[in-house]
Amino acid sequence: MALLQTGGHPPKLGDEKIAQIKAIEGEFLFETYFSLSCQNCPDVVQALNVMAVLNPSIRHVAIDGALFQQEVDERQVMSVPSIYLNGKLFAQGRMGVDEILAKIDTGAATREAAKLNTKAPFDVLIVGGGPAGAAAAIYAARKGIRTGVAAERFGGQVLDTMSIENFISVQETEGPRLARELEEHVKHYDVDIMNLHLLPGPLWRLRDQCLVYRLSQSQPVLSLTAPCLIVLLSNAVLSQENNNITSFQA
Ligand SMILES: Cc1cc2nc3c(=O)[nH]c(=O)nc-3n(C[C@H](O)[C@H](O)[C@H](O)COP(=O)(O)OP(=O)(O)OC[C@H]3O[C@@H](n4cnc5c(N)ncnc54)[C@H](O)[C@@H]3O)c2cc1C
Repeated sequence: MALLQTGGHPPKLGDEKIAQIKAIEGEFLFETYFSLSCQNCPDVVQALNVMAVLNPSIRHVAIDGALFQQEVDERQVMSVPSIYLNGKLFAQGRMGVDEILAKIDTGAATREAAKLNTKAPFDVLIVGGGPAGAAAAIYAARKGIRTGVAAERFGGQVLDTMSIENFISVQETEGPRLARELEEHVKHYDVDIMNLHLLPGPLWRLRDQCLVYRLSQSQPVLSLTAPCLIVLLSNAVLSQENNNITSFQA
């Protein structure tokens, strides 16, 4: 895959995403420790490879931990993939281009806030993009209702699942594949998916049919308007501070 990408094979990314990667300034040396049996490593390695191909300020070294045991010990790498940026631990676990960009493109939050704050009101806004959120979005949008989904990770726990064998009528599938298919199905109905939107408990409120939140203390306030809010966060506990919603655990 790396050879294909460096050889000029076009990356499977939208034009907007490619432009965003090319515009990133700074020096980024990523090092990813992986193992050959790790299910989540290929996504990370391929995402960083493609970013390195598109932007010369981004470099990426993928390290098979089994072959560099001394490095693994020195850096106390406990799990793979472990990603280092400019010598410091950057992240662990499965990540794609979107998640990596959200962490390194510091202007992205302001641009995203400006874009979101001008969105027309939704008829229904779903918070949570796992199978439950995806199903709710499809049902709503099929009725011609203007629907939005805000989620930390569209796909939810399914993204962490390898083999799924109890989805009736599908003998066997893989989590990331099912998550992709869920996303395609949802997008087929023109649902607005706002991915990488973690609503941190104390930082979100409902105010006059409006979901108002910050992605973190240092980031701009975002607001999305909808008369109907459906919260499907699986086992995430809602903030006690939301007056209109009784805190619950689904
Ligand atoms: C490793 C693993 C293997 C599994 N294997 C199977 C299996 O083989 N068969 C099976 O039937 N089930 C399996 N499951 C369980 C199945 O994945 C879950 O039951 C299912 O995903 C629940 O769907 P959900 O939409 O309710 O919640 P989730 O999938 O948990 O989705 C929750 C959504 O809410 C978002 N979210 C959470 N907090 C916030 C926040 N604060 N702000 C914004 N968004 C937020 C998440 O990013 C996500 O989009 C497995 C689970 C795991 C972890």
